[in-house]
Amino acid sequence: MINFEYIKPNSIKAAVEAHTKEKSASFIAGGTNLVDLMKKGVESPTRLIDINGLPLKQISSDNEGIRIGALSLNSDLAEHETVKEKYPLLSMALLAGASPQLRNMATVGGNILQRTRCLYFYDATLPCNKRNPGSGCAAIGGYNRMHAIFGTSNQCIAVHPSDMCVALSALDASVTLNGAKTNRTLTLQQFLRLPGDEPELDNQLQKGELITEVSVPSNDFNKYHYIKIRDRASYAFALVSVAVAMQTNGKTIQKIQLAMGGVAHQPWRLTAVEKMLVGKQMNRENFEIAATLAMEGARGFGQNNFKIKMGKAAVLEALLKAAGI
Ligand code: SF4
Repeated sequence: MINFEYIKPNSIKAAVEAHTKEKSASFIAGGTNLVDLMKKGVESPTRLIDINGLPLKQISSDNEGIRIGALSLNSDLAEHETVKEKYPLLSMALLAGASPQLRNMATVGGNILQRTRCLYFYDATLPCNKRNPGSGCAAIGGYNRMHAIFGTSNQCIAVHPSDMCVALSALDASVTLNGAKTNRTLTLQQFLRLPGDEPELDNQLQKGELITEVSVPSNDFNKYHYIKIRDRASYAFALVSVAVAMQTNGKTIQKIQLAMGGVAHQPWRLTAVEKMLVGKQMNRENFEIAATLAMEGARGFGQNNFKIKMGKAAVLEALLKAAGI
């Protein structure tokens, strides 16, 4: 039994201060990941700061885009009229993630901050550089079927498990962080990091900082698709996923943004594919070239080698489906 203090501040300032002043503090909202981490002994905060009383549940939109409070529930966001009408890719990805029960508890901020589902990370008896820096990575040379093929390091090959973040990355979303002294905004792609030599760090969040808002810029995309390949149809994390948003004029691609999930420690943006496809016609031939390009630089670790072939097929399928071919 690990004792911890529980507090429920009623302002962002008080929440940030409470976090800053305690060495081992965690914010808790839906708790759909943190409670598991605490039960398994992976995380043992001495202070839990319940942020459910903070005014961070609003979803508002204007000509600039949509602003989503960090405490918005995944289920509310997926069903929000503006999201369904103007950002359907986000709704598709949210509905592909978790179960309805979990979506009713999980918040947008928590979705971004959820930790990898690498089995070794959750077993405190086994080596894991993310949980215990310097102890080694049991997944390299071990059970790594779910692991990364892009952006890995010799310290960690874990993947970020979120579906929502794949769509947010493809849509150029940003996160706003409130800290004790300053607030700052980073693109989601900047915020979620690759493992490098510090795999214990999933993101750029500093001590005392709280995600307060996610914003997605407005766009003129008119074709979308989110594809998620998983071991079973309900409630499983992605082996591979692809989010595509396209702006087209007739059959010509004017703008396109893609990201993959299940393949890296952060959503994996396919910038080379985006550049290659702009100005091209939507047809199978161009999409096959794009899918091959998407897998350049991919590296398997044995059990996950299949993801390279699967990733190529998923990119092709997502492009064809978005184009209506
Ligand atoms: Fe730990 Fe990362 Fe290795 Fe998994 S892949 S065991 S999370 S260091």
